[in-house]
Amino acid sequence: MSRLSFKEIRGTEDILPEKIGVWRRMENAAREVFDLYCYEELRTPILEETGLFISGVGETSDIVTKQMFSLADRKGRSLTLRPEGTAPIIRAYLKHRIYKNPIAKIFYMGPFFRSERPQAGRERQFHQIGAEAIGCDNPSMDAEVISLLIHLLNKFGITGGRLELNSVGCSLCQGPYKEKLREYFAGEETPLCPDCQRRLNKNPLRVLDCKRPECQSLIVDAPPLPDYLCNSCSEHFQKVQAILKSLSISYHLHPYLVRGLDYYTRTAFEITHPALGSQNAVAAGGRFDNLVEKMGGELTPAVGFALGMERIILIQEKEKVTAPLETRLSVYLAPQGKEAFQEMVNLLKELRQNGIKSELDYEGKRLKNQLRLANKLNAQYVAILGEEELRRKTITLKNMDTGKQEELPIDLSDCLNFISKVLHLIPPHI
Ligand code: ATP
Ligand code: MG
Repeated sequence: MSRLSFKEIRGTEDILPEKIGVWRRMENAAREVFDLYCYEELRTPILEETGLFISGVGETSDIVTKQMFSLADRKGRSLTLRPEGTAPIIRAYLKHRIYKNPIAKIFYMGPFFRSERPQAGRERQFHQIGAEAIGCDNPSMDAEVISLLIHLLNKFGITGGRLELNSVGCSLCQGPYKEKLREYFAGEETPLCPDCQRRLNKNPLRVLDCKRPECQSLIVDAPPLPDYLCNSCSEHFQKVQAILKSLSISYHLHPYLVRGLDYYTRTAFEITHPALGSQNAVAAGGRFDNLVEKMGGELTPAVGFALGMERIILIQEKEKVTAPLETRLSVYLAPQGKEAFQEMVNLLKELRQNGIKSELDYEGKRLKNQLRLANKLNAQYVAILGEEELRRKTITLKNMDTGKQEELPIDLSDCLNFISKVLHLIPPHI
């Protein structure tokens, strides 16, 4: 065989069949939870015009300044692999006039792309599940979105996260606060990192998001953002907290929490988890009351979140969360010899057509090896058809959990009835 000369691109990953169940279970569980909260799925394209993200995510954001994978089409127009989900959702919301509904509740899931330095929990192609509630400025909706996010995490078997909460205010409160921040950092002797010195001019709020130790040590004593909220932002923030309390959702106020995207207003939140190392945020979100208008629509308040699926899986692995299997293999068919094999091909078809997940040994293995494989596949039952059974026109059905064996007639419909009954597919009746 020739040597393999192509590798996957750094920061991207093949998801192999043995891992795919974990992903599918997460996606299915998410769909179930979203349905409970009346959210509907919207799938937007992977490729968008670059301008969408520049205006939607913001010129001073890390995403736009250094993380976009952009390419030119044949006419020289700049396209970008979507780095985040909110701007495309709002684009679609406006194009398809989804705003006809008073409140649009939308969820999405799929791959996103950012040119970052790959490390555990930080990929260049990663996957997010996200939700946006568009058209509602009630603080209850902020709380509902947070409680939906926590419900999702619990459904994925994750507890022990920490909800960090802040309000970043609106343009009215941000103006004076940004000035205060500039004054504060200018008065400090130790300089900010070169990136932050640029940020200080363009958008000083970005400085608060810097992870570098030299900047962090200055940030901890910076003026706290909530002290500068205008009356209506302050009232909104108080109400969000009161509703969270009444829902028994505990949170930690984090006065320097800002989101990495420029469009956030008022509520900002992040969920961190101790099982994650330095990339400790598993999900983040907040309110973005100006984005719809900025993208050409009417002034429309909105709130949402996104969680990182790879980081969920990291936590599940670290915490040894065993989510229930999607559908267990019901029957593994173990024929001995050609005649038995032929019988079982028919039974296999019958079982599958009746919705019973089944598999057959196509390789003529010995019984011992068939049982070993059935065990590995976590089969509930093994149906054995050997010489003895053929002679007696029966099949032996072995319960792999209890080891108990039963003999049943080889007749296809009798056999199917029996298996359906032991699998509780036919409800017991008097
Ligand atoms: P971080 O501070 O970790 O870079 P972020 O603020 O850039 O996160 P968001 O844009 O808010 O992240 O995305 C929401 C979630 O998506 C994050 O909390 C994280 O779980 C996940 N995420 C973001 N970027 C990546 C990435 N490059 N690889 C894997 N997951 C990611
Ligand atoms: Mg980031």
